Amino acid sequence: MLPVIALVGRPNVGKSTLFNYLTRSREALVADFPGLTRDRQYGRLKHGDRPCLIVDTGGIADDAEGIENLARKQVQIALEEADIVFFMVDAREGLSASDKVIADTLRKLAKPVVLVTNKVDGIDAGTAMNDFYSLGLGEPIACSASHGRGIPELLERANELL
Ligand code: GDP
Ligand code: MG
Repeated sequence: MLPVIALVGRPNVGKSTLFNYLTRSREALVADFPGLTRDRQYGRLKHGDRPCLIVDTGGIADDAEGIENLARKQVQIALEEADIVFFMVDAREGLSASDKVIADTLRKLAKPVVLVTNKVDGIDAGTAMNDFYSLGLGEPIACSASHGRGIPELLERANELL
């Protein structure tokens, strides 16, 4: 069984964009893999020597009503199958109430969480990131999923946690 990274975060933060970035051009989509739930889409990521699978929890949980339910559903998915959680937030919009709800549920999870502040392209990332420290999930990694920025740092952090 390969290690699994779950992408968690409120709608529109860029989970699917990051999923696509990390999995494209690698014959990436995994249809059948022993131990995985069949109705979910997993992508294959290979970085360094260590192959991983990625699951976009938003693709599964976005239909949940209300942010609490969405958070619960995403965290349930992460709990069931992930070795690491990438918790994505939107650096342009700043810290939102929904981010805090998801952070609260993630803190109770005994899994490593990497805080990913996405959409730092074209903004002052340093200022935008300050707020996110208050989530208590460690140092955020500044990324731009659509521009491929910060991805090596993100993968390096994941590699340290695996
Ligand atoms: P999801 O709902 O979390 O899966 O978010 P999506 O991946 O669907 O992205 C939501 C919107 O944000 C789309 O319009 C994306 O093009 C945009 N987006 C995603 N990542 C970035 C980024 O790094 N920078 C910018 N500027 N836009 C982004
Ligand atoms: Mg999505």
